Amino acid sequence: MKKLLKKLIQAETTAQKGELAAAEIISDELGRSGVDCRIDSWGQNRANFNAQIKSNGRKGGLLFLCHLDVIAASEKGWKHLPFAGVESNGKIYGRGSVDMKGGITAAVTAIREIVDSGVKLEGDIIFFAAAGEETDSCGTRRFISDFNNRLPKIAGVVVPEPTDFEVVTAHRGILWLEVKTFGKAAHSSTPELGVNAITSMKSLLAELENYEIQFQPHKLLGKCSMSVNTITGGKEINVVPDKCSIGIDIRTLPRQNHQEIISDFEKIFAKLKQKNPRFEASVFIVREVGALETDSGCDFVRDFCSVVGASETKAVGFATDGPYFASLGAPVVIFGPGKPQLAHKPDEYIDIADVGKAVEYYKKVILKFLT
Ligand SMILES: [Zn+2]
Repeated sequence: MKKLLKKLIQAETTAQKGELAAAEIISDELGRSGVDCRIDSWGQNRANFNAQIKSNGRKGGLLFLCHLDVIAASEKGWKHLPFAGVESNGKIYGRGSVDMKGGITAAVTAIREIVDSGVKLEGDIIFFAAAGEETDSCGTRRFISDFNNRLPKIAGVVVPEPTDFEVVTAHRGILWLEVKTFGKAAHSSTPELGVNAITSMKSLLAELENYEIQFQPHKLLGKCSMSVNTITGGKEINVVPDKCSIGIDIRTLPRQNHQEIISDFEKIFAKLKQKNPRFEASVFIVREVGALETDSGCDFVRDFCSVVGASETKAVGFATDGPYFASLGAPVVIFGPGKPQLAHKPDEYIDIADVGKAVEYYKKVILKFLT
């Protein structure tokens, strides 16, 4: 188990390097138990991995939804190199240890132990590990468009992200927007001959200061939020800039319509154009993931909580690809080893004991739902 986790960390599955190496490691591991594995690879070492353990099909299947990719890590601030997978004091350090190669290791180990035990399953186990969850959910979107018609009926989806063994049923959605203003380049000794895109952006930013996205507060997730986090514009100090762009991170609540937010932006553009006919702007979606809200009272969640001994369900701050599967009608819970606050930080680590604990939980979950 430890060896598998270290190998997965060493696979360095950043957006630059791709996910293929990790997909091959999982394929070898499950292959040792005779599990039929499939790697779907494209582009520059991009890869999804999936495996299906077939049953007599009397019950709905259980799908483990993971992601193979990790965010990049510079060596600064790390005690141990981020992709070395160093073990120290009962912990394994490295980028991805907690998000989410610890969870992958636990799910793969649990599946192998179930398969090796020879227990008869009444529903299929589907293990899916996606590419690109941290950037644009390309892997999950690709998997769903390829497999939607071929997937067996799913009783529930488990996402082994780090929740420190809390059962999570809700997270906010993501809407990342790039807004560009367009002008006309001119020599800056005669700025009146051009249209300054930075000046246009200034008027847009002033409007956004007063703009509030409409929402109904949510009992678990609180508020919708919006933050302008990047700005770029202009190329030369002596040229009137013809382009300026900002990046906006919006976190949305269940039932909030992303298209309505985009229409709000278009209305703001129209208002500014009325004041100044030379104002030009466009909005583009960079990334979009729906919010997750699984009914805590449904049978799947109630049974899941009883298996793992949880008395309540929670919400988390991070987002997952879970909503893509929720939209197919499957209840989704996020439940896994490790502390979520360690994700995406230097010195990310996972306690080896927690990975072992997760293996036991996942085995119990498989036996509860599939036998
Ligand atoms: Zn993650």
